[in-house]
Amino acid sequence: MRGILDQLRFFAPGWKDLFEILVVAFLIYRALLLLQRTRAMQMLVGAFFLVGAYFLARVLDLVLIRYLLENLFQYGAIAALVVFQPELRSALARLGRSPLVRYLRTMEGKGEADELLRAVLELARMKRGAIVAIQGEVGLDEYVETGSRVDAPLSAELLKTIFTPYTPLHDGAVIISGGRIVAAGAILPLTQLPVHDKSLGTRHRAALGLSEETDATVIVVSEETSRISVARGGRLEVGVEEARLREILQEAFQGRLGIRRQGMFSR
Ligand code: ATP
Ligand code: MG
Repeated sequence: MRGILDQLRFFAPGWKDLFEILVVAFLIYRALLLLQRTRAMQMLVGAFFLVGAYFLARVLDLVLIRYLLENLFQYGAIAALVVFQPELRSALARLGRSPLVRYLRTMEGKGEADELLRAVLELARMKRGAIVAIQGEVGLDEYVETGSRVDAPLSAELLKTIFTPYTPLHDGAVIISGGRIVAAGAILPLTQLPVHDKSLGTRHRAALGLSEETDATVIVVSEETSRISVARGGRLEVGVEEARLREILQEAFQGRLGIRRQGMFSR
């Protein structure tokens, strides 16, 4: 009798089991959310079919199919790691952007974002042309080389000074990396795509071009219209207002400075 009771205890979940089930269910739910609408999801559906086929083969004792599928699963796991490397990377990166981590990072980069915001607004008010690229994950060293190397803390005063007309460094772009000004007078690649708005000249094309080739955020102040524009991911947002610009700048600096200062990921 006792023996049977002991065995049945397995079926009486304690609070620990309940906790574990909840945690695992939550993790699976989050994993599915991450995979939703990605290539990985389609493959997951395919994988379920294969698992189904495998069990069928086992039940029906189809030795060859079973053998093939077993091998496929073994090597498939490794192949999946390689094939889904981009998805895994972005999933881990998104994990890093979870609300808790984001909360811890909101303060980081705030000073830099504020300085740049102030500089850009004042440049626009003075109707001075400017172009500033904020480095993302992809290094901008090749563009830094095209200009003059600078190594200075980001300050609104310095930025305004750099973009003063007829001074040696006002022509070309300022590049910011790790919260510091690393170059001025840099030449950025022009976009090859047609730009229909004729008021958008080479400065705007250069901003778009860099945003097509890298994950940098590029801020442009137009000398002709004093409008502020932002290029990101190959898209140009023209006529950005202060509140929106603050948001964009905070995003561009958030969570980047710590990483750079430790020298990780810097290329
Ligand atoms: P704006 O609205 O300010 O006039 P725009 O898009 O019409 O800008 P242009 O009038 O051609 O552009 O602006 C020329 C200025 O843009 C140059 O003086 C230079 O400082 C900057 N510029 C042009 N090409 C590049 C480039 N490839 N990389 C960086 N800066 C550039
Ligand atoms: Mg122009």
